[in-house]
Amino acid sequence: MENDIALPDCTRLFIGGHWEEPAVAASYTNENPALRKGLCEVAIAGEKDVDRAVKAAHAGLASKEWAGLPAADRGRLLWKVGQIIRERAKELATLESLDTGKLYVEALYGDIENAAGAFEYYGGWSNKITGQVLPVPPRFLDYTRREAVGVVGAIIPWNFPLMMAAMKIAPALAMGNAVILKPAEQTPLTAVVLARILEEVGLPKGILSVLTGFGDTGKAMVAHPGIDNITFTGSTAVGKAIMRGCADTLKRVSLELGGKSPNIVFEDADIKRAVRGVTTGIYYNQGQMCTAGSRVLVHESIHNQFMDAFLAAVKEIETGSPFDKTSRMGSLVSKEQFDRVSSYVELGQKEGATLALGGTPGGSEGYFFRPTVFTDVQPHHRIAQEEIFGPVVATSTFKTEEEVLAVANNVSYGLAAGMWTNDLARAHRMAHALKAGTVWVNTYNAMWRESPFGGYKQSGHGREGGQDGAELYTEVKNICISI
Ligand code: ADP
Ligand code: MG
Repeated sequence: MENDIALPDCTRLFIGGHWEEPAVAASYTNENPALRKGLCEVAIAGEKDVDRAVKAAHAGLASKEWAGLPAADRGRLLWKVGQIIRERAKELATLESLDTGKLYVEALYGDIENAAGAFEYYGGWSNKITGQVLPVPPRFLDYTRREAVGVVGAIIPWNFPLMMAAMKIAPALAMGNAVILKPAEQTPLTAVVLARILEEVGLPKGILSVLTGFGDTGKAMVAHPGIDNITFTGSTAVGKAIMRGCADTLKRVSLELGGKSPNIVFEDADIKRAVRGVTTGIYYNQGQMCTAGSRVLVHESIHNQFMDAFLAAVKEIETGSPFDKTSRMGSLVSKEQFDRVSSYVELGQKEGATLALGGTPGGSEGYFFRPTVFTDVQPHHRIAQEEIFGPVVATSTFKTEEEVLAVANNVSYGLAAGMWTNDLARAHRMAHALKAGTVWVNTYNAMWRESPFGGYKQSGHGREGGQDGAELYTEVKNICISI
């Protein structure tokens, strides 16, 4: 199937409802990481293109076509986008898999399904976010409106390209904003198709622009005074740069950044279930997930039993072609990621942890990497503190609840945490004490667009998903009338 799919034309930028060449001609070659082969040429948007997109967005917002559209009609339009994504799911999953190296089946049932769901879900919210009438003295009428912020700049990463685009574009459009989307340089394909779909359903001109390019394109968006709000998902380092950049124009900013999430196995856990959850918790999407359960903390009394079962499960994970039904893990996204993961494996060994499994390339062709397990990891080791963003897990043991809580919280991140226990009181006690935006009990990576998602500490600001994810793209206006 992967051979008879047509790639979208990525040599043009979608600006103001038209497919434009970059103002200053520039392009790069996008790669299929599973084959280490060029896929297509992609336009690089520069400052002038960002400026054109901003002007088009403001013109679009000023036109009756968008501002005058009843909220329910915006919702209907978004719902249609969801439907088209469903109709074209196999094609989109193929493109996503070619571009990222992820398994086709995971793209189909994970990424694409969730992207369609995001448009449907936020389509539903378009006419359900309301203001309030406030109990001020009776000679006044005082009420609030939730208004669109204006122009939203969305900068996204490469690990779930279409889904990330959908989780930002859908709520922002539902609330009546205009969006300028910058996909990650590694994975532009589905963003370009998405622009075509929004064009097809009749989104007014300028309300969405898609600018492909590198970090500099994102930087130009952050710097542009005509963008009101930046919504970013990506690395903590870039998130910090973006927050600094937003200070100059005091843009609103939401950041969904890295993680180093603990996955804790207590002595009373259902070991079989825990093994399954810990395994997919770290290796899903080749470990390239901000929520990856990359620190596994096991109670000493069940350590041997758990580790035997866990290592046996990991040994069964075959890396291989993303389109091969027998593959359980695809390719990493790029040489950069491959080198990064390799260097952390080297570092872990130098730090004194034991490399129990993996640590080597998972094939000769693409950027495949075997699922890797470290044991005897100390909490201060860099492989237990820093985000690797690959299929590498740091395991260690603990004796008491207080001890494991302290270790779990003692990192700069706070995105997610998991625990496996049948003790109800402990589950709640721990869930309240863990400094993380999401806590999973006897499950892992169970993420729903209905639920708020985001981080404590250096994992970011703001919540996507659910009602919070819609309100993220609104300003509250207070109106007071003397009557
Ligand atoms: P990763 O480490 O996962 O590749 P990054 O944080 O580097 O993630 O990139 C995420 C997104 O941010 C990409 O679209 C990338 O092009 C963009 N980006 C990188 N550097 C900057 C920057 N300085 N300002 C704005 N966007 C940037
Ligand atoms: Mg690619």
